[in-house]
Amino acid sequence: MEKYDHKKIEQKWRERWEQANIYKTDEGQGQDKRKCYVLDMFPYPSGDGLHVGHPKGYIATDIYSRFKKMNGFSVLHPMGWDAFGLPAENYAIKNKVHPRVAVSKNIARFKEQLGRLGFNYDWSREINTTDPAYYKWTQWIFLKLLEKGLAYESHEPINWCPSCQTGLANEDLENGRCERCGSAVEKRPMRQWMLKITDYAERLLKDLDELEWPESIKESQRNWIGRSTGSEIKFLIKHFSRNNAELTQKIAEESQRNKINVFTTRPDTLFGVTFMAISPELAQKWLNVSWLPSEEVKKYIGDTLTTRATQSVKDNPEKTGIFSGVYATNPANQEDIPVWVVNYVLGDVGTGAIMAVPAHDERDYEFAKKFKLPIVEVIQGGDVSKGAYIGEGVLINSSQFDKLPSEKAKKKITEFVGGEMATTYRLKDWVFSRQRYWGEPIPVIHCDRCNVVPVPEKDLPVMLPEVERYEPTGTGESPLAAISEWVNTTCPTCGGPAKRETNTMPQWAGSSWYYIAYCISESLNPSAGGQVSIPISGQISKPEFRNNITRWLPVDMYVGGTEHATRHLIYARFWHKFLFDIGVVSTPEPFARLKNQGLIMGEDGRKMGKRYGNVINPDDVVEKFGADTLRVYEMFMGPFEEGQAWSADNMVGSRRFLEKVWRIAERMKEVRLAAASLTSGADVLRMLHQTIKKVTDDIENFKFNTAISQMMIAASAMETSGISRDDFKYFLIIFSPFAPHLAQELWENLGEHGFIYKSAWPQADETLAMKTVIRVAIQINGKVRDEMEVSAGITEAEIIPLALAREKVKLWISGKTTPKVLYVKGSLVSIVVT
Ligand SMILES: [Zn+2]
Ligand SMILES: [Zn+2]
Repeated sequence: MEKYDHKKIEQKWRERWEQANIYKTDEGQGQDKRKCYVLDMFPYPSGDGLHVGHPKGYIATDIYSRFKKMNGFSVLHPMGWDAFGLPAENYAIKNKVHPRVAVSKNIARFKEQLGRLGFNYDWSREINTTDPAYYKWTQWIFLKLLEKGLAYESHEPINWCPSCQTGLANEDLENGRCERCGSAVEKRPMRQWMLKITDYAERLLKDLDELEWPESIKESQRNWIGRSTGSEIKFLIKHFSRNNAELTQKIAEESQRNKINVFTTRPDTLFGVTFMAISPELAQKWLNVSWLPSEEVKKYIGDTLTTRATQSVKDNPEKTGIFSGVYATNPANQEDIPVWVVNYVLGDVGTGAIMAVPAHDERDYEFAKKFKLPIVEVIQGGDVSKGAYIGEGVLINSSQFDKLPSEKAKKKITEFVGGEMATTYRLKDWVFSRQRYWGEPIPVIHCDRCNVVPVPEKDLPVMLPEVERYEPTGTGESPLAAISEWVNTTCPTCGGPAKRETNTMPQWAGSSWYYIAYCISESLNPSAGGQVSIPISGQISKPEFRNNITRWLPVDMYVGGTEHATRHLIYARFWHKFLFDIGVVSTPEPFARLKNQGLIMGEDGRKMGKRYGNVINPDDVVEKFGADTLRVYEMFMGPFEEGQAWSADNMVGSRRFLEKVWRIAERMKEVRLAAASLTSGADVLRMLHQTIKKVTDDIENFKFNTAISQMMIAASAMETSGISRDDFKYFLIIFSPFAPHLAQELWENLGEHGFIYKSAWPQADETLAMKTVIRVAIQINGKVRDEMEVSAGITEAEIIPLALAREKVKLWISGKTTPKVLYVKGSLVSIVVT
């Protein structure tokens, strides 16, 4: 018997598959075939290469897409590289190589590592977000957003990472810190490009209901979008200073605002408002329109803004505040209430001002206690001497609204004070510019005469220039600003001198539409005959182009990590909806089904990483155990969505399973040489069909671990009882998505010539799978003399004549008295003779 030599087998088949180009996407003849688009979240080609945790999701999509292909679908299963952005750039700076050079080196390394695992990617559709032929399209989408008023410039303070030296979006933060480097993030006012994702908030929220995604991811998106309904209420500013009504009037006129707007989800508590609290940012705006508070107040505003700029946004500082000297009128009871400038209201949340109801809000309660402000209970149900009661209830101290329940009072009080019911969202517009080198240049030109001028479509792509120095400048300007020959250009509108935009796009830009790029990657790749010279709008209107997009979208199965819940997965949905609105795609959502893989931890149970020295390189595992063993082991570790710690010992178990399958086939070879043919016993046949059924259901539901465990049981049965060659081939087919090299080798050893990948998936014979055949022992005078196979449901009356008719039994009972026969259901027939 030959030994299972994974190295020889895996190398041989990888070469043959490549030569035969078997993973080329089958577009589906006449496009009448059902399609299945199976997609991995594409990786950043980081410099560290892959560790064994990375391929877990890729193995799953590989199995799933093979399964779909064998079930008659035309399958799109591509791979590419998300190579712009901070990770690639920071790696390049640290290792003192140009990001472009680092990226191409890292891609080569990733591709080599992935190649060893035997994946069925169609590499002819490979994309790279840093390829000008690719980012030309990213820039085109930006121009379209600009044209539709969804991209705009803003000077509002944004999150600034002092270490990465760039502005960041809210989505880039983790507990107020830079998600990339962990530094505390500051607020900095600067010019930047914003995308109006808030225009899509309602649709992003509502359409979640239609998606077959993990509930936890949908819930994170719902929270991130943060819809709340309540009322917008205006509080008239009574006087900016009690002593100077004239000045109040002047400020009100100049600022066009003599009101403080608030949004509240609790208009039912309006009679309990005892003060207002405004953010230092809003107070600063008042100062800008010649409000003249006391020196002390001015100092407080200045100091608080400075502290904000240097402190982490979400650190929960001690609540401070100062009375501004300004009074407002409570529109419910016309009482004068003081306006405080406080540090616990943020300028970029809501309107930057709140109505404070200490009796029914915990923060307001804490603040009122500290500064001895009145606390007026207006909702029954709590004890305001002890703390705020935040629940709803029946109104008191609310004049004509007393005794109303909160729910009714909300609407009535809002109407009474002339407010409006309103919906707000926590979601903010997307800060879309970065002051870094390694990103797509934003395709606009600044002209003194014409202001912001979009780069004409025929001039795309705006190429990222080669530079000597690509480190961030730290001044809030991108390194591109220093390249005068690139920056200085002519205005496309007036022909006068103009300057290019020097900010670049965030790392999330290229990944917001890459799944569309795979459908049309021939058009993106000039070397494959793509016509990049045609303006994109012209190309998009072509029927063959549209057909390809319509054919493949949406993605049917999308697999990746949970860390993208409120980043990539929100951005991509936003861009997709926009592209739907302008007619580029024909589905409202990009990803119909989503699965998240759990992490693979180090053997020590910690997250795998350089800093713990617990990284396991897949190359070593493949060398020692083989790619097939690695694939089977990673899918067998436990439920796909859960995290598990790596265990070299357990991997040996997976290897033994493959060796068992190998041995079964080797025996068959021997039997074949002996020209004998074996038929499968009923037990084994039943087991086989049960296995086909279970593996089929389990792959569809991403329960790879239980599918493997069923195949292990089947393999043991086949080894013990034997199986016919034809039946074993069915097993090989269902086994092949998990261990494609081994399955293919055995397929050939059994005399098949084609690729197992092109076989049809077997159908489980339900009757064979169901019919439970059991082995029953036959005892004669207490000793087992024979055994027989019967169906599990057999009755005593049926089994007795069968047992008595058996040759061996006849020998023992001939010439004896009439036997006494007894059937012990499911296990034995007992015969007593004397
Ligand atoms: Zn950072
Ligand atoms: Zn101009």
